Amino acid sequence: MASIEMRNIVKQYGDGFPAVNDVSLDIADGEFMILVGPSGCGKSTLLRMIVGLEDITGGDMVIGGNRVNDKAPRDRNLSMVFQNYALYPHMSVFENIAFPLRLSKTPDDEVRRRVTEAADVLELQEHLDRKPANLSGGQRQRVAMGRAIVRQAEAFLFDEPLSNLDAKLRGQMRTEISRLQRRLGITTVYVTHDQTEAMTLGDRVCVLRKGVIQQVASPRELYDQPVNLFVAGFIGSPPMNFLPATVEGRRLQTPFGTMELDDRRAAAVSGRDLLLVGIRPEYFEDASLVDEAKRPHGTTFRARVDVTEWLGDQQYAYIPYDAPEEVQNQLRELSRELDSEALRTQAIVSIDSTSRIREGRDAEFWMDSRKAHVFDPSTGENLT
Ligand code: ATP
Repeated sequence: MASIEMRNIVKQYGDGFPAVNDVSLDIADGEFMILVGPSGCGKSTLLRMIVGLEDITGGDMVIGGNRVNDKAPRDRNLSMVFQNYALYPHMSVFENIAFPLRLSKTPDDEVRRRVTEAADVLELQEHLDRKPANLSGGQRQRVAMGRAIVRQAEAFLFDEPLSNLDAKLRGQMRTEISRLQRRLGITTVYVTHDQTEAMTLGDRVCVLRKGVIQQVASPRELYDQPVNLFVAGFIGSPPMNFLPATVEGRRLQTPFGTMELDDRRAAAVSGRDLLLVGIRPEYFEDASLVDEAKRPHGTTFRARVDVTEWLGDQQYAYIPYDAPEEVQNQLRELSRELDSEALRTQAIVSIDSTSRIREGRDAEFWMDSRKAHVFDPSTGENLT
C-alpha cells in the first residue's frame, strides 16, 4: 500500500484551458479519497495521470515516496477498476481473479493460495467455478476487486464504476465498496460526478471545478462549511437555497424578511452591500410547528407555496421569490454548471410531513439564522 502525493499537477491538452490546473493533493496510505465535480472538471484526467494512462504536463506525481511521472502504468503497481469491471466472460471467477498472476507466470500452487485468500476476504469462495454472467452486480464488482487484491496493488483507482447501474443496485454497491475498502485498508481514489456517492463513500472528498481544487474535506465539513458558492451548491440534495440580501448593520434584508445576525456573522458582513445568503432546505420549518425556544433565533415569514412534494417522513415546499436580474443571472449560470434545475429564484424548503401547508396558498415559515452562510456574490467566497 502507498500514499499518493500530487504536487502542482498540470495537464494541458492542446493550447486551450488546462484540464487540470495546479492540483496539489496528498492522499494518505489507506485513505479513501473521492474526486468529484461536474462533467469536464478534470477528475478522470487526474485519475488517468495517477495510473499513468495520461502524460503529466507539469508537476510531480509521487506514489509511495517515489516520483512516477515517467513510469509506465505497469510499473506503478496500481489497480484500476472500470465501469464494466472488465471481466472475461468465458473464464471462471477463479481464472478471472488469477489473471494477473497467470500473466506474470506465477507458479500454480502460489496462484491457488493467493486466489483462495482473496476469495475468503471477498466472500466469493462458493462462486469460484462460476462464470461472470451468473453473478450479481455486487459479486462481479468483488471479482474485479479480487483481481486487484491478488496483484497486491498499492492502490485501487475507480472511475465512475457505478454509473451504469440502476439506483437500487448503485446503493448496494456503494455499501459493498465502502465495506471492502475499510476491511482491506487499501489506498483508494474514486472518481464520480455524483455528490451522494461522494458524501457516502469517502474519508475525504476533493471537489474540482474547471481543473482547480475548490475544497478538500470530510463529507461533513463540506456540507457544514463549504468554502464557496460552487461547493455549497454542489453538495447537498436538494441544494442549498441562495437568497439575495442587503446589509443593514447586523441585519440582512432578504426576500423572506429581516435576518438578525450573530456576532460572528455580523463581523463577516460588515462594510458589505449586496450578498447572497445560503441556507439549506432543512433549516426552514412550518412556523406553526417551531419550538418556541428556537423561534427567536430565526426569521418568521409569510410566503406563497408554489408546489409541494410529500416524501413520507418530510415534505418539500417550493417558494418563489423576487431577486434582482443580476442575482437571477448568477443563479442561472451556477445551476447550468451544476446541471441542477433546483438553483433558481425559488427556495426549496424541507418541512415536517404533518404540516398542513397547501399548494397555491400562503403559509407561514421560519428559517434558522444560525445556520445561514453568507457569500460574496462576485467572488463566491463564503464569508462566514
Ligand atoms: P466527465 O465526468 O464528463 O468524464 P471529467 O471531470 O472526468 O468529466 P475530463 O474527462 O478529465 O473531465 O476532462 C477535462 C477536460 O479536458 C474537458 O474539458 C475535456 O474536454 C478535456 N479533455 C479530456 N480528454 C481530452 C483529450 N484526450 N484531448 C483533448 N481534451 C481532452
